[in-house]
Amino acid sequence: LVVICNDQSCIADNKSDCNKVERENKYSRESNEKFKEYFDNIKKAKESYQPCDKTKCRCHSNVIQDDLKRFKDGITKELVGNIKTKGTKYQIINHKLYRDPECMFPARCSGIEHFILEILPDLPNMEFIVNTRDWPQIHKQYGAFGPVFSFSKSNDYYDIMYPAWAFWEGGPAIELYPKGIGRWDIHRKQLSKIADEIPWEEKIEKAFFRGSRTSPERDPLVLLSREEPDLADAQYTKNQAWKTDADTLHAVPASEISFAEHCKYKYLFNFRGVAASFRFKHILLCKSLVFHVGNEWLEFFYPALKPWIHYIPVDAKATKSEIRELVEFVKNNDAIAREIAENGYQMIWDNLKMKDVSCYWKKLLKQYAKLLKYEPVMDENVIEIKK
Ligand code: UDP
Repeated sequence: LVVICNDQSCIADNKSDCNKVERENKYSRESNEKFKEYFDNIKKAKESYQPCDKTKCRCHSNVIQDDLKRFKDGITKELVGNIKTKGTKYQIINHKLYRDPECMFPARCSGIEHFILEILPDLPNMEFIVNTRDWPQIHKQYGAFGPVFSFSKSNDYYDIMYPAWAFWEGGPAIELYPKGIGRWDIHRKQLSKIADEIPWEEKIEKAFFRGSRTSPERDPLVLLSREEPDLADAQYTKNQAWKTDADTLHAVPASEISFAEHCKYKYLFNFRGVAASFRFKHILLCKSLVFHVGNEWLEFFYPALKPWIHYIPVDAKATKSEIRELVEFVKNNDAIAREIAENGYQMIWDNLKMKDVSCYWKKLLKQYAKLLKYEPVMDENVIEIKK
């Protein structure tokens, strides 16, 4: 076989070899332009990056300021009354915790209460409404207005973000984690240990994802993986809503893969689910490179993570070929990939300890309480929550 090609001419034994080489040349020209854009993004991100203060959960403090800004004129009894049906009411009176007798998701309430109970001695009297659904409640354009605590939101909402229940318990139950994903303290230690046991050079050079189809934003990677299994291994698993293969994009559901198994892969993908997905913090601890798709859905610790420093951002509407290009970029620039992977790991390891989660809850509730314009009186029907 003889194929001699340059930009002007192509000599080959047969035409189809010629076309293939020309296609590849065109692809690499386009890739080079794209790669230049990625290098520029990294350069700009590095120039403007200011490492945050690692002490006393300061890396996340500005999220509290931002979320409470809308309530800077004070929180009245009427304002809380407006939104009391949006979640579960909690009261703190004389360092004791009380709650509505009903909680929509009891395990989620327990996961939340775990953190509040341990900081009670430092908290003043207050009352607040906690939304335990996945979806935020206070849209900026329509509906009721008032202070509602939610674990995740996008910029379209005024909800006040709190650390999700799943840091302790109440996370989604899957076959691998039948009691629900929780105990971040244990996951942290396990993942960090595994991350150290699998050297970067031994990680499988594929873009990896396992999860259910909670958002179609996951489709392009799953489809790319079906076309190019050497580049990506991304498959849909069942969730509780699964009825037919249509819910796994017309494929048999894949087996679930533990967080630890994820660490064997060099490139890990994170996507939104219904709101933010809990996997982001886990996969960042693998010391693998994380691709984070979409920037709309947040948890309280996301703003501390910077694109091109701690992860590679991917547009929520990225096509298969745009994703392919990004993966090709990191495969061709291993040192960059490794540096971003290490940065992402370090950010979570240093700033998302259980201590940081408790610290965030404490700062958040203390600052919220300062805005209350009335002294809460214990409701008649509340129950006391104890350890
Ligand atoms: N998960 C997992 N292994 C799997 C599938 C899911 O560890 O094979 C975890 C996943 O990381 C997430 C949770 O289970 O934290 C639920 O994942 P799913 O994709 O079903 O929904 P999501 O919450 O991401 O929208």
